[in-house]
Amino acid sequence: MARTKSILSEARQIERAVALIHLGARLQVLESETDLSYERLLRLYKEVAGKSPSKGQLPFSTDWFMTWQPNIHASLFLNVHEYLNKVAALDEIDTVIKAYRLYIEQMKAQGLEPLLSVTRAWRLVKFVDNGMLTLTPCSQCGGHFVTHPHEIARHYVCGMCNPPARAGKGRLAGSLGGGNREIHTLAPS
Ligand SMILES: [Zn+2]
Repeated sequence: MARTKSILSEARQIERAVALIHLGARLQVLESETDLSYERLLRLYKEVAGKSPSKGQLPFSTDWFMTWQPNIHASLFLNVHEYLNKVAALDEIDTVIKAYRLYIEQMKAQGLEPLLSVTRAWRLVKFVDNGMLTLTPCSQCGGHFVTHPHEIARHYVCGMCNPPARAGKGRLAGSLGGGNREIHTLAPS
């Protein structure tokens, strides 16, 4: 039985790794989320992606998530993620995969370029788990946005209610604005 179980578990891990590679995940994500050896992951990556994985450090800073448009994208993803966390009994990484697919679908439907990579989405969930980032409701629209913890909700105004002056009426701004309809549609709280 143990043997059968281990083969099934390995199959499941390979399936996850393949899903993550298809979504564009960095090799470090696969190393962290599966028990497969580096060698095997590297081979799998080349086979699935048809190229070697890119090298270099993972983004370790929370700064990117605080910038204007990335914050809106990250917030959209995290709302979906939190929603799935509540309603679906999935393993953590499967929740990330599913939430990220929904985020990509939403971007496609809006004709927008997804600013959030799956690697960043994965990091974001880690940052939330570690208490380095959280969701805070906007005092004007009520949508939940990625912030540092201890943000005073009473005073917090999101990047859609209060876009930076330089933002103008760009396509992206226009599409993801409008009272964050998407965030509410995708993730009823
Ligand atoms: Zn707002």
